[in-house]
Amino acid sequence: EEKLDYVKSKIGEYPNFPKEGILFRDIFGALTDAKACVYLRDLLVEHIRQSVPEAEIIVGLDSRGFLFNLLLATELGVGCAPIRKKGKLPGEVVSVEYELEYSSDTFEIQRNAIAPGQKVVVVDDLLATGGSLAAAAELVRKVGGVVVESLVVLELVGLEGRKRLDGKVHSLIKY
Ligand code: IMP
Repeated sequence: EEKLDYVKSKIGEYPNFPKEGILFRDIFGALTDAKACVYLRDLLVEHIRQSVPEAEIIVGLDSRGFLFNLLLATELGVGCAPIRKKGKLPGEVVSVEYELEYSSDTFEIQRNAIAPGQKVVVVDDLLATGGSLAAAAELVRKVGGVVVESLVVLELVGLEGRKRLDGKVHSLIKY
């Protein structure tokens, strides 16, 4: 469809970033374009309204997920919350360690961010190996929430990240 093609045409591509052999897909390349911003919002909001209307809170991943969680929350009339790298969130937090290619990292969520049984959509810019979204889902479950969908703008299909995720997974643009 037209909106999707337009947004896709604005996504940046940077070979060998952040290191040799990686083709980095840059969502910020689309966000400098006013029409792409509106189309991206429309596409994500339409998707949630049609596919996961039961969503009660939108959780965004540090840091590009934050471009979308507040935006979607305001459009849908629900709240939003962040998952952040270790040490950034105040109060009682729950942590999960997850593996990166050559290291590990820790995600945290505030224990009181999600009500028991609350239906959660987790959003990020891009799905690669799925490690980040799998860790996010584990955190949401640990604080009592139910992940109804993992939602991304971009998906690197060849890495098969969605195999690591339970439940619904949706991407707007697949490479
Ligand atoms: P995963 O955990 O392997 O699925 O990697 C996803 C995370 O890495 C997301 O938070 C992305 O923002 C980031 N990431 C991985 N590859 C890219 C890329 O090509 N462009 C932008 N972000 C990327």
